[in-house]
Amino acid sequence: MACKRIRVNQAKCISCGACIATSPSKAINFDETNKAKVDPTIVTAEDDICVDVCPVEAIELVEFDETTKTYKK
Ligand code: SF4
Repeated sequence: MACKRIRVNQAKCISCGACIATSPSKAINFDETNKAKVDPTIVTAEDDICVDVCPVEAIELVEFDETTKTYKK
């Protein structure tokens, strides 16, 4: 089923950690480059609130396939 889920634009991320502290599902962590990254296997619609806490608008809502847990673009 199609819906939208958050994803981090790592080119914009300044590694502040706000989204990681906010994510209800704990779906966001820093990757090996110290940029925030969303785990698509556990992200939920509740994580949409993370869009509002990012100071540099690095978190976007992207078309997502709930069945395969993958982003569509
Ligand atoms: S809130 Fe934004 S800038 Fe901060 S770690 Fe998350 S994505 Fe990066």
